[in-house]
Amino acid sequence: MAATILIVEDEYAVARGVQYALQQEGYEVLIARSGEEGLDVATNQAPDLIVLDVRLPGIDGFETLRRIRAAGSKAPILILTARDDEVDKVIGLELGADDYLTKPFSLRELMSRIKALLRRAYGDLADAAGGRVIRHRDLLIDLERRRVQRGHRRIGLTATEFEILRHLASRPGRVFSRRELLELIRDYEALDQDEKTINVHISHLREKIEDDASNPAFVLTVRGAGYAFAER
Ligand code: CA
Repeated sequence: MAATILIVEDEYAVARGVQYALQQEGYEVLIARSGEEGLDVATNQAPDLIVLDVRLPGIDGFETLRRIRAAGSKAPILILTARDDEVDKVIGLELGADDYLTKPFSLRELMSRIKALLRRAYGDLADAAGGRVIRHRDLLIDLERRRVQRGHRRIGLTATEFEILRHLASRPGRVFSRRELLELIRDYEALDQDEKTINVHISHLREKIEDDASNPAFVLTVRGAGYAFAER
């Protein structure tokens, strides 16, 4: 799955140009035309990276940036500025931007900055666009290398935990019963286990990948039915 990039820019020509260039590179693109809309998309659709213009109708880019960070988003943010004094502000205010470009900029320069930010934030998995990588918010599951990351933090899972996560995440929203998951891990574990074994593995998995294991965002409990991976 390719990375999803949000562009917050009210100037149609700029937004379209950037969108086109990103799509040519295989990225998914979301566009917001105001700070308020950008904040809404950033918090509800969890893009992997945000390109944010300073000059916007309503709340400006600086305030939008502050609110996006306050809402808990850790996605890399690249600021587009129009003047040098705005650059000073980006640097001086330490609002949590990761990089900036001054207009007018070349699309080639923008692309190389975006790729660098994605690599920095998500490590080498970011380059595996279109490959066997499952991505949900900042959780990355590399199926071929059997690696799991939250942002750039590597997470060590047991073979059984990885297998359960891979299975759930391969079909977001599909509910798997404990019986199904138990069948799945038979190759990895002794046969004489009951379905409670699954609860234990899920609980360990959550301790490792969730921010709050008691309020999971990735591996969800479906009461009376089993477990499901969160839909995007
Ligand atoms: Ca603008």
